[in-house]
Amino acid sequence: DVGSGSLDLRGRDGLFDALGARTFDVIVIGGGITGAGVARDAAMRGLSVALVEARDFGSGTSSRSSKMIHGGLRYLPMGDIALVREAASERKIVQAIAPHLARETPFVIPAKTGGTIAKLRAGLWTFEKLGGVPKSRKHEVWSLAELEANEPAIAATGLAGAVVYPEYLTDDARLTLANVRGAADHGAVVANYCAAEAILTENGRATAVIVRETLPGAPARTARVSARMIVNAAGPWVDAVRALEAPGATGRLKLTKGVHLVVPREKLPVSRTIIFPAADRRSVFAVPKGETTYIGTTDTFHPTTEDWPEITAQDADYLLTAAAAWFSVSPLTRVDIASAWSGVRPLVAEEGKSASDISRKDELWTGPAGVLSIAGGKLTAFRKMAERVVDQIEEALGRKLSKSRTATDPLPGGDVDVAAMTASLVAAGVSPEAAARSVGLYGSEVEAVGNGAAAEATYAVLYEGALTLEDYWVRRGARAWFDLDPAFPALDAAAEVMAPLLGWSAAARQNQINHCRALRSDALSNLRAEQPLGAETA
Ligand code: FAD
Repeated sequence: DVGSGSLDLRGRDGLFDALGARTFDVIVIGGGITGAGVARDAAMRGLSVALVEARDFGSGTSSRSSKMIHGGLRYLPMGDIALVREAASERKIVQAIAPHLARETPFVIPAKTGGTIAKLRAGLWTFEKLGGVPKSRKHEVWSLAELEANEPAIAATGLAGAVVYPEYLTDDARLTLANVRGAADHGAVVANYCAAEAILTENGRATAVIVRETLPGAPARTARVSARMIVNAAGPWVDAVRALEAPGATGRLKLTKGVHLVVPREKLPVSRTIIFPAADRRSVFAVPKGETTYIGTTDTFHPTTEDWPEITAQDADYLLTAAAAWFSVSPLTRVDIASAWSGVRPLVAEEGKSASDISRKDELWTGPAGVLSIAGGKLTAFRKMAERVVDQIEEALGRKLSKSRTATDPLPGGDVDVAAMTASLVAAGVSPEAAARSVGLYGSEVEAVGNGAAAEATYAVLYEGALTLEDYWVRRGARAWFDLDPAFPALDAAAEVMAPLLGWSAAARQNQINHCRALRSDALSNLRAEQPLGAETA
C-alpha cells in the first residue's frame, strides 16, 4: 500500500509532452524547498502547476542545510522579531504535517558563567513567548553536575552549567521531496533534470519557458511551457534566472557558503545537539545522527554557484578548533572526518553586513516582464513563504484569494505516529537504530518501502522520481554522508536494483557507482593531508 504522491519520472517523452501540452496557471522554476512548497500550495488551491528542476529535487541548498527546523533563537539579538515569531510558529506546523521530518531533540547550550545563563534564559523567555511555546516544551537549566552526567564529552572545567531547550531536526531533501510529491498528487506536472534555459515574452510579458532535458545520457529534449505566471525559485541561481527574463539585470543575492563535517559518533559522543561558540564567537554545533556526529557550520561569502562548493582546510579547521576547545574527547583532526558537505545560502544582499549578520528574511520581486522571483528565507519557514507567494500569484492572476490548506493537510508520509510506528518495526525484529532511521525518512510509508537499500532504491525509482544512483544515495536514502562502512554496501545493493529499472548497461551501472564514490572522496580532497590543525590557516 503506497502512500499518496507517487512519482515515477522515467517516461521522459511523455513528461516533456505534458509540459508542452497546455498553458499552465503557473510554472515554478527550481525544485528546492522554496519551489516545491510553492508548487504544492498552488496545486492544492486548484491552480494548474508545472514545476521544473534543473538537477534533482532538493539537490541545491535544500539538501545542504544543517537539517534543523528551528525557531531562530540566534536572530533575537539581531532584533529580527518577526522572523523569530514566524520560524517559531512554523516549527509547530511542520511537526504537525510531517512529524517524521521534525524530530524533537534537546539543544544544549553550555555556559561559562551564571551571567551567561541568565542572559540565555532572558532570550529564551522572549523566544518562548513569541513562538507560543507550551509549558512542557519550555527551556530548563542544568547545573554543572547535570551537564557532566548528561553530556560527558563536553569539557566541563570552567563551565557553570547549561541551558537546554527543544528544537527539531529534519531531513531537508526528503522534506523537499514530500512537497514535490504533494504537488504532483494535486495535479502538478513535475520534472527533475529539466532546466529552464530561456524565458519568452509577448508584448513585454513573460509567457513561456523553454526547458531542456539534463539527465546525463538522455536524448536531447526540449519543451515550450506556456504559463500565465512564472515563478523563479532557483535559490543560489535566482540571479541567473532573473537574467533570462532581463539580460544584464543586476544581482540581488549575496551567497554565503556553509560547511558541515561528519565524524564517527564515538569520536564525538554527544547525545543531544550541543551549541558552542567558535573562535570568532559565532555559534556552531554538534548534532548526533545515527552512527555519526556532524559539526557545522561555517558562514563565508562565496560568489560562485558550482554544484559542489569546495571545502577548504580552513573551513574544516575552523570547526575542528571550536570542537577541540569545547569537548574533552581526544582532539579531532582532519583525518577523523568521514565525510563533509557544503552548500550556499541564497541571501538577499545587504550592503556592509558580514556573512552571518545578513538577515535570513525572504524577499519577493516582480521583474520587468512579470516574473516573480523569491530569495532568502529558511527551510524552516518554507510553508509560510509559499503561502505568501501563492497569495501573490492569485492576485496577479486576478483570482479570488483562496485559503491555503498547507498548515493542516499532512505531507505524503506525514500521517504517522512516529513512536508507535517505530515500536511496531522493532517488534517485527528491525533493530531500534534501523527502525528510527526508516521511520524518520519514510513516515507512514515505511512498511510500503520495506527494509534495506535495495527496497529503498526500488521505491525511490517507482514512487519518488529517482533517476540516478546519486538521487537515491545522497537525497532519498540520506546515506551518502552518514554511512560509515567504507565499502558502501548500500551503493552496490541500490545500483543492482536500479540498473534494470533505469535501463543501465553494466558500464553505466559502474559509472553511477564511481560517480557516487567520487562525490564523497572529492569533498575531502583538500583535507587529506595530515597536517596539524591550523597549519594552513596562516
Ligand atoms: P535551492 O534548494 O538551492 O533550490 C533551488 C533549485 O533551483 C536548485 O535545486 C537548482 O538546481 C534549481 N535551479 C537553478 N537554476 C535552474 C534553472 N535554470 N531551471 C530549473 N531549475 C533551476 N534553513 C533552516 O531552516 N534550517 C537550517 O538548519 C538551515 N541550515 C543551513 C545551513 C547551510 C550551510 C545553508 C547553506 C543553508 C541553511 N539553511 C537552513 C537555509 C536553507 O537551506 C535554504 O534557505 C533553503 O534550502 C533554500 O531553498 P531554495 O529552494 O530557495 O534553494
